[in-house]
Amino acid sequence: MENSLTIVIPYADAGRLTKYWAIAEERVDWERPGLETERCTVAFAATELHAYLARTVPSLEVRFSDAIPAAGAAIAIGPFATIREVLGLAVESPPQDPQGYVIRTHAWLGRSVLVLAGGGREGALYAAYAYLDALGWRWYEPGKGGEVAPPERVSLPLEGWNLATTPDFPLFRGFHMQSEGEESIDLFRWMARNRLNAWGYHPRSYALMKKLGFRLISGGHILEQILHPDQPQPSGRTLFEEHPDWFPEIDGKRERKHADRFNFCVANPVATHHVARHLVERFRTDWRWTDFQHVWMLDTWAGWCQCPACRALGNDADRYLHFLGRVRTEIDAAVKRGELTRSTGMALCAYEGTPSLDGPSHGVPANLTGSQDFVLFAPINRCYAHTLEDPACTEMNGRYVRAIESWGRIADRLPLAVVEYYNVSKFEDLPLLFARTMGADMAFYKRVGVQGMSYMHAPIALWGPRALNHALYARLTWDSQASVEQIKEEYLHLCYGPAAGLMRDFYTQLEAAYANITAWRSWFHPSINRQLLDWKGETPTKPLFTLQHLQPKGGQAIGPLESLRRLALTKKRLDQARAMKVPIPARLRIEEDARAFRYGDDSFRFYWAMAQLYEADRKGDPRAVRRAWTEVEHFADSLSSYHVPFDYEYPGPGVRAKDALARTQLRPLLDLLRVKHGRPDLVQPSRVRRAGKARPGRKPAR
Ligand SMILES: [Zn+2]
Ligand SMILES: [Zn+2]
Repeated sequence: MENSLTIVIPYADAGRLTKYWAIAEERVDWERPGLETERCTVAFAATELHAYLARTVPSLEVRFSDAIPAAGAAIAIGPFATIREVLGLAVESPPQDPQGYVIRTHAWLGRSVLVLAGGGREGALYAAYAYLDALGWRWYEPGKGGEVAPPERVSLPLEGWNLATTPDFPLFRGFHMQSEGEESIDLFRWMARNRLNAWGYHPRSYALMKKLGFRLISGGHILEQILHPDQPQPSGRTLFEEHPDWFPEIDGKRERKHADRFNFCVANPVATHHVARHLVERFRTDWRWTDFQHVWMLDTWAGWCQCPACRALGNDADRYLHFLGRVRTEIDAAVKRGELTRSTGMALCAYEGTPSLDGPSHGVPANLTGSQDFVLFAPINRCYAHTLEDPACTEMNGRYVRAIESWGRIADRLPLAVVEYYNVSKFEDLPLLFARTMGADMAFYKRVGVQGMSYMHAPIALWGPRALNHALYARLTWDSQASVEQIKEEYLHLCYGPAAGLMRDFYTQLEAAYANITAWRSWFHPSINRQLLDWKGETPTKPLFTLQHLQPKGGQAIGPLESLRRLALTKKRLDQARAMKVPIPARLRIEEDARAFRYGDDSFRFYWAMAQLYEADRKGDPRAVRRAWTEVEHFADSLSSYHVPFDYEYPGPGVRAKDALARTQLRPLLDLLRVKHGRPDLVQPSRVRRAGKARPGRKPAR
């Protein structure tokens, strides 16, 4: 028993039952926080600690106990209050936040005990992972392949620890807007190990996510369904025919054609009551288990009811807050009546699609202050060539800075959170990197009062180089001052070993090549993607490059030729790294990076060729048209030769693997152009008919 370790779990019979409690999450009532919920998470933390410490020190004999042993090495783990009560170990200056933790060496009856104490059960779990992290363990991707093990040791460092920390974004840190089919145990474990905790409610994973300390945030744009104007009513009429006064007044009239484009008449108490009752019913049934529900208005980029009563409420945000305040009143009343057994938080979205990007002019309804409700700021068309605060970015980011600051001014009354767009639907899982902007942006968000961070859409697996984004994201959402350079260097070194130098250049060049991605592909109307989606193949009359950010020969951010130069350099470094002799895990990573690189490179060249075709046609240059068309066909062929998983159905369950050409979103345009320029044999007739009818605005918040 020379090299032994006792993990002390402060619950009676822990020696026998820790392994059982750790996997018993399905038997725990997560609605009733108490001994059982706490014990399940802490026991799981202890088993994780056990498994990884045994791999760190192979000669170590590890056992569980509910008491500090008289001799031998010991680690006590649990919420500080339980550790104090059960073990009599008083942790000094314990964290107030249940997610916070201390790692401290305590003197105990003439010897020392390492204490991993959380503010609550989540903090205890994070403390276990933080200790393992300090020993050199890393989890860069979901699953075994993403794990980095430190060199083996002969003993554990248990002396001299004194670390205390709480998260910079305590409300939540994670992802938003998952589709129903989108869940993965590997991913959830990866999140917990990296102290992330926000995901949507999924019935099969509910207990596991709760054990891992998750906060469940569900829903999205829901008014589309609740107030659909064509909804048949018992009278045989539609909802609009029955209640035209619930729907928006536009230019003095309430008409069907505006009823599903502009937000409903929130000043109408009957309409608001109808929506609130619908929400209460959902909170009683299928939304019963979520912690927060998005209550987002129509994603139509149109506007609000213009009736005098609505106008009197104030600006867009004032109207939204008025509506949410009314819903809150009804939810609270339903809780009081016992109709609801718990209160669920609601999220208002500060987003130009609803539209409600700018903060309110009249303050916050009193009953929203101190509720669980929060504001989710959504800068969907932000530029990543510049940090948010960079004064050079007047064309895109300036308005987001002003808008979030206007919400920041009321963040003491209504918490503010952000949904970033590192994988917005327009990005289609491209290998985009954000090491230049993420650190400064997180520090900015923290400074304006943001308390929760998330991003959409969550990539489930096969991250390739995007694993670096996630390493940065996880660290920075906990500590917004963490060093990006240090995290990146460590990542490169641990992932690529002897190829780290080449891969550093690969990452740097790749990131720079795509820095202007918002100007290429976003929901921003002047973006190349939106312009090309509007092109029906006829000879264009307007220039394609209208943003100052992106001009054929350059602009305010990186231009196409410079991007191509960087991509060529990226490819060169990749090929050099592939030719090197590296350990198998590093080789597997490089191969995954290579697949992601090829997809990005093909997509970018395809877009550039398409842009050149457009411009050549507009300028009436047939030789340039032929040249560009050959390029378009070349890259289209390459893109259609492989799949890029995964794409999820929305709403409802379902997963699709589209080929890379479909992921460019320009296949319908290509079909139209094939009829015009040749190879009509490759065109499916049904596709041509549909082409051009794509309505990108219909896919919510993407
Ligand atoms: Zn109105
Ligand atoms: Zn910019």
